[in-house]
Amino acid sequence: MSARIIDGTAFAATLRGRVRNGVEALVRSHGVVPGLAVVLVGADPASQVYVKNKAGRTVEAGMRSFEHRLQDTTTEAELMTLIASLNADPAVHGILVQLPLPKQIRENAVLTAVDPAKDVDGFHPINAGLLATGKPGLVPCTPLACVMLAKDVLGSLEGLDAIVIGRSNIVGKPVAQLLLAESCTVTIAHSKTRDLAAVCARADLVIAAVGRPEIVKADWLKPGATVIDVGINRVAGAELGKMKLVGDVDFKACADKAGAITPVPGGVGPMTIACLLVNTLRAACAIAGATATV
Ligand code: NAD
Repeated sequence: MSARIIDGTAFAATLRGRVRNGVEALVRSHGVVPGLAVVLVGADPASQVYVKNKAGRTVEAGMRSFEHRLQDTTTEAELMTLIASLNADPAVHGILVQLPLPKQIRENAVLTAVDPAKDVDGFHPINAGLLATGKPGLVPCTPLACVMLAKDVLGSLEGLDAIVIGRSNIVGKPVAQLLLAESCTVTIAHSKTRDLAAVCARADLVIAAVGRPEIVKADWLKPGATVIDVGINRVAGAELGKMKLVGDVDFKACADKAGAITPVPGGVGPMTIACLLVNTLRAACAIAGATATV
């Protein structure tokens, strides 16, 4: 293994420390304690774990955490009423609606109802438009995490050939926009891309957001490339009946060819909540008219 292993857990801890300092500064300068409201509809076990982790990290960072747990029979109108009250609540600076939502609720309608100034997930079309036009706004957390890790390894990304594999609204497209803003030459690959291996082989920076276990192979990589693996896939482990997590990148083989690579778990994953805290602090600063320090 020759690649540098990018430690997302350590980077996230440092970032959370910077957020905590930023929160203290905002409290001192403007008397404002940032508040993050997380809305969970239904009892999806994975979502419950995420929400609990988010709430814990929010409080650790010196922010207020507001949890709203609703029954899976909640109607879209009821959820909209809650979102309207959070939009109007001055103690709330960030609103996150945990996805997926039950099928009677239209995801797009709900995400569009969140005040764009409090949209810490960065999924509102206004924030997507601001990102696409290179204007300041709230940026989705996982894409922000990918670019922070890449910049930590490479410094400036200017002029690099980057490939983003995946074109979803929550990862692929926004990460491609962020890389463009960093002056990379960006290729967005997807399920219809012809000869993905050849496209990948040109890239100095590979961001894999596919959701297919270990699809990215070592012989696709340019030697020394930086590889950021967003994928989280549960597959059968070596022990009978036990599952394990793997990314979209064949980590073991790619670590011999890449210059730097994120592991799964321990790469992008831990960074996502840290970036949510960054966004909440940024939202609170913008609402209070203060300058954000992260
Ligand atoms: P998605 O299913 O919405 O999008 C997947 C994309 O991959 C699509 O654009 C599709 O065109 C592309 N794709 C599918 N098969 C392909 C193939 N064979 N070749 C090339 N491209 C192909 O998924 P998503 O929401 O963008 O998530 C992607 C992965 O990232 C998932 O594993 C998800 O669990 C993970 N994820 C992780 C985090 C985190 O915090 N680390 C956050 C969000 C998503």
